[in-house]
Amino acid sequence: MTIENESVINIEALLSEVDVAMQRLAEGQYQLCAVCQAPIDRDRLIENPLLTTCVQHPKLSERGDHE
Ligand SMILES: [Zn+2]
Repeated sequence: MTIENESVINIEALLSEVDVAMQRLAEGQYQLCAVCQAPIDRDRLIENPLLTTCVQHPKLSERGDHE
């Protein structure tokens, strides 16, 4: 079983997502909503760099659900 390995991969994937998001912020670019392509509010991204959706599509960026 590779539960531990999967956790590490998950964390690495999260970290790289954060990295990309922070890089965009550093470049002054807004992340675009994955659903409607609207710019995601910068303050929300600073609070949660993993956001991939705008305020109107918040469900998709929630990570609390266990799949
Ligand atoms: Zn949207």
